Amino acid sequence: MKNQKEKRKISQESFFKDLTESAWKNSGCDGISVFHCLSSKGILKGLYKFSGGFFCETGENLFFENDEQFSKSIFSMKPFKLNEGLASYYYYPVEIKGDFDLSEFGRENLIFFRFEKFSRGKLNYSKISKAAGEIEAAMENFYMVDFEILKTYYYRNIVSSARLGEIFASSIKTEDSYKTIISGLQKHFGFDRIRFYTVKEQEKKLIGAYSVDISGRVKAIDYDKIILEPGAHRFADIVLEKTDKDYSSSYGDKVFYLPLKIENKPAGLLIFDNLLSQIPISQEEREMLKSFASQIAMAVDNINLFNKIEQLSLYDELTKLPLRRYFNSRFQEEFYRAERFSQPLSVLWIDIDYFKEINDTYGHQIGDVALKEAGRIINSSLRKIDFPCRYGGDEIIIMLPQAGYSEAYNLAKRLSGEIRNIKIPVPFSSNKEISLTASMGIASYPADASKQEELLAKADEALYWVKSHGRNSIKAYCEIKNETGQEK
Ligand code: GH3
Ligand code: MG
Repeated sequence: MKNQKEKRKISQESFFKDLTESAWKNSGCDGISVFHCLSSKGILKGLYKFSGGFFCETGENLFFENDEQFSKSIFSMKPFKLNEGLASYYYYPVEIKGDFDLSEFGRENLIFFRFEKFSRGKLNYSKISKAAGEIEAAMENFYMVDFEILKTYYYRNIVSSARLGEIFASSIKTEDSYKTIISGLQKHFGFDRIRFYTVKEQEKKLIGAYSVDISGRVKAIDYDKIILEPGAHRFADIVLEKTDKDYSSSYGDKVFYLPLKIENKPAGLLIFDNLLSQIPISQEEREMLKSFASQIAMAVDNINLFNKIEQLSLYDELTKLPLRRYFNSRFQEEFYRAERFSQPLSVLWIDIDYFKEINDTYGHQIGDVALKEAGRIINSSLRKIDFPCRYGGDEIIIMLPQAGYSEAYNLAKRLSGEIRNIKIPVPFSSNKEISLTASMGIASYPADASKQEELLAKADEALYWVKSHGRNSIKAYCEIKNETGQEK
């Protein structure tokens, strides 16, 4: 019994190595390839190849489903010739016989041996037929082969191809798509770890997106930022193709780097590793991942494009501040929250003074620089929960959740000082540089208004008061209300 078991443990690889090596010698061919016929999928799935004295795994998959002549020959279950370019091929089918369970195999029990002659070489049919006879005889012993290997090996490959293709094609929407892609790859390949880096071209950096481990847990690795310059890091060298060194070899065959390119420009890097388990990443797996590279790159391209469009529609290009549409939806959310939790919410309405004059005197371009600077100052001096917006022209509104009148006033005072400090060089003018001032109006919920529109209107009213009382100042609605009250 024990003997039987040990006998079955001939590895599939050594079985086919012996077989093809001998056939290669005896047939006078340049190469012999072995394919498993997956008729239900319409694929001759490449398993091994013996050529030029070397034996290796092959990822060569021949899709015959849409090739009528090819399918016909395959389904005839008889040997057939086929010329491809300069090469001549002779396909020889052999049925796997035996009493083992083929159910996991989809009952696909046909192996094709391909005798190959390259560069116009002639196939020697009498030699081939002798070699084929030997193969037939040897295949009688196929039942001794450790079946598990073949099973997992081809099954993963085919299922992955189909499913991953779907995943990549659907990955066009959000940042989450990166997660979907690496989770999909992990599910089908089962590496110890996969890491995904994307190229940020403007920043000249390679930035970590996500990593996934063997248990399928996805982690953000956006803290990992690598300068994308030759010599800066081995990842950078691999992505930029600035290296002759085969980095995979420094980790044996436990790491595989897959650079992604879009229109010949670097777009990202996928790193697969089995450093923990020390299981080699097979040539087959490498080839298959390589064949996915362009699909993944395309998905990355789509994600980038989508993000760019989303950014463009939410943010103002010039000031980098959110646009009114974005502000309105956030304002609504925050207003509900303020109502619900009885918290204050203030609005600060800012308008640059005499901005039209800047445009008229120094040109639109200088006006743009002024707006850009004001945007930068505002963006950098707010709390995380504050939300600014370019409301239009030279008007900026800032929503300040959980801030009452005094907090809003303090911020306005600080901003006002910082805006006054902005110096814009004007090269062809006697002034050399100009500075800005701004007028600001504040209104607070619940003190000044009970509704969103009303709150904005009150802040606008306060701003109008400042504009009509000399500009370059701050006023809260509660102050002008009191003043008008006193006036009466
Ligand atoms: P006030 O002190 O009363 O606010 O006067 P003002 O000159 O600032 O007048 P107003 O706010 O009405 O004018 C805004 C000007 O901003 C009018 C418009 O030409 C200009 N503007 C609007 N958008 C842009 C822009 O994107 N770039 C530049 N350079 N100018 C812009
Ligand atoms: Mg103005």
